[in-house]
Amino acid sequence: MQKHVKPALPKIDCPVVDRCGGCQIQQLSYDQQLAKKQTEVNKLLSKFAKVEPIIGMTNPYYYRNKIHTTFAMNRKGQVISGKYQAGSHHVVPIDSCLIEDQRADEIVVSIRQMLRSFKIKPYHEDSRSGLLRHVLVRTGFQSGQIMVVLVLGSPVFPSRKNFIKALLEQHPEITTVVLNVNNKKTSMVLGDREQVLYGKGFIEDTLCGKSFRLSPKSFYQVNPVQTEVLYSKALDLAEFTGRETIIDAYCGIGTIGLIASDRVKQVIGVELNQAAVKDAINNAKRNQVKNVFFHQADAGDFMLQIARKKQRVDAVLMDPPRSGSTEKFIQALATMKPKQVVYISCNPVTLARDLASLARKGYQAKRIIPVDMFPGTNHVETIVSLVRKR
Ligand code: SAH
Repeated sequence: MQKHVKPALPKIDCPVVDRCGGCQIQQLSYDQQLAKKQTEVNKLLSKFAKVEPIIGMTNPYYYRNKIHTTFAMNRKGQVISGKYQAGSHHVVPIDSCLIEDQRADEIVVSIRQMLRSFKIKPYHEDSRSGLLRHVLVRTGFQSGQIMVVLVLGSPVFPSRKNFIKALLEQHPEITTVVLNVNNKKTSMVLGDREQVLYGKGFIEDTLCGKSFRLSPKSFYQVNPVQTEVLYSKALDLAEFTGRETIIDAYCGIGTIGLIASDRVKQVIGVELNQAAVKDAINNAKRNQVKNVFFHQADAGDFMLQIARKKQRVDAVLMDPPRSGSTEKFIQALATMKPKQVVYISCNPVTLARDLASLARKGYQAKRIIPVDMFPGTNHVETIVSLVRKR
């Protein structure tokens, strides 16, 4: 009998792997990358439950739907664009990145080539001279819509109309262009001031059959292929009957809650970022979902409020940032006594801390599934389902 052997994935080499701060493990084969992440998650989490095999991608390249590029002048006085070197503000020139949407990278190269004829200089952080600081491009994986955000160091953008016209002539696939002003000395890419220069100022995309609107600043998972895998798995683990009231904590633009809304009675979403909540409310309307309610608040404060009202909650879905959740949140959760919790985490270290805390409150991990959302980098996402034991 012929033995079935999985073909080794052809590895693509990155020419700046030693210098660029974007990836950390791109020099490894994809199988080695997955093995490394599996070991890390096992080490941190196997004391809570058996860790299942990590779910990897079929094609681990060109997956990022959001890219940002920084502009600078090199020693020869030429404009370069690329990523910061790890731990510094030195720009490594890059035209095409192995983990970024290729259409987005092509747009950035065109913008760089246009700068000279428009006499636009890259922004210089220390002297605060020049204009163009970063370019952010967001692409809708399903919709094909593309947003370009030009981050300038000053609100004065001479010949902006002609610049946009020239850009759209080269890239008619761009659906919206937004100007953002950031004149602070900061590692944050986006500043506070925003102005729509072309199109609607947001793009739309579809995830698990629901449509979403994304603004320049809203959080949206960067790997659309794996996000569908992640959300579907997380909701399958939850085993809803259709009668539940659930909380979608740290809900961003409402993705998980809206996708779950068909399977439960009611979803209550909570998120700190005002713009994301606005998008979430809009997303509920655009999908004609009527059983979802979004609130802008700190998730811990909000949980405490719900607990005090003694409102019945059957399940909590939580997807906090890298810093994890808080004692306040977990304490309030325990008072509500939901039967199940599904925790989605992008940092196994804070996840381990929070699982220990949840265990002290009577919540036992049932299944732990790592999902590779970020090939090439050392980041790893994990889903944990927990049930109440007492
Ligand atoms: N569930 C969403 C977003 C996850 S990212 C998705 O899958 O797309 C984590 C989110 O937590 C971000 O949107 C961030 O703005 C939000 N957040 C951070 N700190 C918070 C807090 N203290 N309370 C509520 N939300 C918070």
